[in-house]
Amino acid sequence: MAALEIKVNPDVFTQEMLDSIKKVEATRPSRIGADLRRMSAEEKDDVLRHFHPDYREDGFSVLRVGPNKGEKVPSELADLLEGKSRVLGVSVDVAHPDYDTDVLIIGGGGAGASAAIEAVNGGVRTMIVTKLRIGDANTMMAEGGIQAADKPNDSPAIHYLDALGGGHFYNKPELLRKLVMEAPEAIQWLNGLGVMFDKDADGTMVTTHGGGTSRKRMHACADYSGAEIMRVLRDEVINRGIQIVDFTAAIELVLDDRGQCAGAVLRNMETGELRVARAKAVIIATGGAGRLHYQGFPTSNHYGATADGLILGYRAGAKLLYADTIQYHPTGVAYPEQMLGALVTEKVRSCGAQLVNVDGEAFMNPLETRDVTAASIIRECKERGKGVPTPLGSAIWLDTPMIEEIGGKGTIEKRIPGMLRMYSKFGMDMRLTPILIYPTLHYQNGGLDVTDKSMTNIPGLFVAGEAAGGVHGRNRLMGNSLLDVIVFGRNAGKFASAYVPGVKLGVPTLSHVEKFQAELKAAGVQSKVESPLLLPSYTHGNPKFADTIKWGHAEL
Ligand SMILES: Cc1cc2nc3c(=O)[nH]c(=O)nc-3n(C[C@H](O)[C@H](O)[C@H](O)COP(=O)(O)OP(=O)(O)OC[C@H]3O[C@@H](n4cnc5c(N)ncnc54)[C@H](O)[C@@H]3O)c2cc1C
Repeated sequence: MAALEIKVNPDVFTQEMLDSIKKVEATRPSRIGADLRRMSAEEKDDVLRHFHPDYREDGFSVLRVGPNKGEKVPSELADLLEGKSRVLGVSVDVAHPDYDTDVLIIGGGGAGASAAIEAVNGGVRTMIVTKLRIGDANTMMAEGGIQAADKPNDSPAIHYLDALGGGHFYNKPELLRKLVMEAPEAIQWLNGLGVMFDKDADGTMVTTHGGGTSRKRMHACADYSGAEIMRVLRDEVINRGIQIVDFTAAIELVLDDRGQCAGAVLRNMETGELRVARAKAVIIATGGAGRLHYQGFPTSNHYGATADGLILGYRAGAKLLYADTIQYHPTGVAYPEQMLGALVTEKVRSCGAQLVNVDGEAFMNPLETRDVTAASIIRECKERGKGVPTPLGSAIWLDTPMIEEIGGKGTIEKRIPGMLRMYSKFGMDMRLTPILIYPTLHYQNGGLDVTDKSMTNIPGLFVAGEAAGGVHGRNRLMGNSLLDVIVFGRNAGKFASAYVPGVKLGVPTLSHVEKFQAELKAAGVQSKVESPLLLPSYTHGNPKFADTIKWGHAEL
């Protein structure tokens, strides 16, 4: 195959950037093969405490009502959790549903699709409602890969220890155990469904390192792993004839008079009409919260990542776990501005690219865990003043030409072709010049608290994927989320379908919404917004949004 030809724009970099690139090029030969020191536990704690956004007191608010009353969460999330329900003052006839099913799945990403496949395997009626189209989801955007300990030098026990250390020992042991033990089978399941993983000529799966992994266990489909996995899952859902209601958001859960989950109120995203779905079990698979732009950060997330599932669950009485811990991916695009916040996959560092400051110094081992790496980048820019000036702040180089020097010509096009093409659109050739990055809001480490059967404290309410908390503790390792989505999506589908035959639904009600509203009033909380948010308030080109982008500057 002929190499991709890129028409380089000579004016794409500022003079300051060009001067700095010269320094990066000058130090490159001595950096290749250099064994960059790992930080000690004390050094990691120190950089996290001082520079990770999770430690900024002013980014958080204490909840005044609900199951996690007294705990802190990001302020933007607190506003939504304490927001005004969209069904208040509106007539909704929950006794006469428009849809009747056994398992209702809210969210058409990887977790929702995996859950649907297993629920149907369990022989129950299954329906997916999703806010956009099925596959319009963070899963579709995943790049780097999915972890599983399936090589002879590896084991689920080693995978467990890596993820436990990465999660700062807060992972729920029973969830983490399930994640790592079922990982090899999850890969085989996807492979069997038709996912085209990267393989050697003899069919052996190619595996690489990710941040915090002690073995090469990252399975990938080039740098569009999520798109490939979602393609296959979506086909499977469609081929099995599973009912999909798209452009339809869940805006409230329905409980029955015994406190069991009994369905959801739905809103047509185009017409605004409300509908009711009755179900014996509900699986929340609504994904993350990147579009809430915590602390003004840009995000790598898809447009619908607005934490809706957390709001629905919380208002119904489900507990949150570790909702105060957020993952800022260390390498979001910092330049050019048109791609601000878009993800530069960790695979770029797995393939050999180092993090380098304005003076051409590799200031850290590029494969520290994500929280430590993000905090170290922020420190390099803010405290040490060693960032590269950009129109929106300052940033760090990711020295991509190293990849070709280490792996040989053509490595970038073979291993990270999506990334190469993304930059080529702006006249940048990452094979020849390094790229500028800064942390971007990427993942919610916490979520709704579940058991190893994926159920919350509300009977019949299950949660899977990024909306669930506990698997990853207080920091997720690369490749463990796609794995989580498959393992726990399937888990939720299996346990929800097994739960259904024993359920007798009582009288459906929205009284929990009124009760929550009364609690807000009693606590003197004036709701600032209607929630769930459903979609962010800005659109592309909206100048209001430009004002919120303050990342990279001293005030963040
Ligand atoms: C750019 C990017 C790259 C990533 N790369 C990797 C990687 O290489 N490896 C890895 O392990 N992880 C990666 N991740 C993380 C991983 O992809 C996600 O955490 C995971 O796919 C989430 O899956 P999910 O099914 O829980 O949520 P999603 O895939 O986000 O699906 C949620 C679905 O719910 C729908 N929804 C939301 N609210 C409602 C509502 N109120 N009503 C109805 N539907 C609703 C959404 O529209 C969406 O369809 C990446 C994430 C991003 C953003």
